[in-house]
Amino acid sequence: MKIEAITLDLDDTLWPVAPAIEAAEQALRDWIAEHCPDAHRHWSSADLQGLREQVWAEHPHLSHDFSQLRMIAIERILAPFGMPASAADDAFAAFFAARNRVQLYPEAHAALHRLAERLPIVALTNGNACLRTIGLDHCFHDAVHARDAGVAKPAAQIFHLACGRAQTPPTRVLHVGDHPLQDVIGAREAGLQSVWLDRGMHSWPEHAPPARRFADLSQLADAVLAALD
Ligand SMILES: [Mg+2]
Repeated sequence: MKIEAITLDLDDTLWPVAPAIEAAEQALRDWIAEHCPDAHRHWSSADLQGLREQVWAEHPHLSHDFSQLRMIAIERILAPFGMPASAADDAFAAFFAARNRVQLYPEAHAALHRLAERLPIVALTNGNACLRTIGLDHCFHDAVHARDAGVAKPAAQIFHLACGRAQTPPTRVLHVGDHPLQDVIGAREAGLQSVWLDRGMHSWPEHAPPARRFADLSQLADAVLAALD
């Protein structure tokens, strides 16, 4: 089947996300320690983790919008300590800057450039990474975040929105991502082609029909570009 565009997951596909989130949570703790020492004394790391989980559980309708969930948690951390309303924005900015200091997988940068030279690539993410802040926006035709779409992968609507941005019918779009359900099976069910970029974090669901699997983005670029020639 012909491929005319790619939709590409970001977190755990181009870079490992856990270290970035860990660093971002540390940056948030550092910001609180510097700007609101009372809150820093009040909230232990375990308390902050508990609060995060509580906010996530209380707002299932915001599960596609990590930025807003994080803001709600930050407001709750600071609220009892008389901080001005703008403080939560500043604290979030510290979190968000660190969240976007990602370390790409070793092969990802070169492979992304090779693909971007030949095909329009639309980023398609459930997370809140900012390609411009990261410095990769020049490789992408566009980006679709679950936050803007109002739904997250694996909903078909968000895949179709991304195909629309690529101005390509779903059957001619290849979706690439690390998550078996959110990426590979979700895209397949939305009528796209899809492959599994297996970063070793998930096992393939037992009863799902198999997908074409690649161990890294370089192998995937080789296969996609060979099929174009
Ligand atoms: Mg991912």
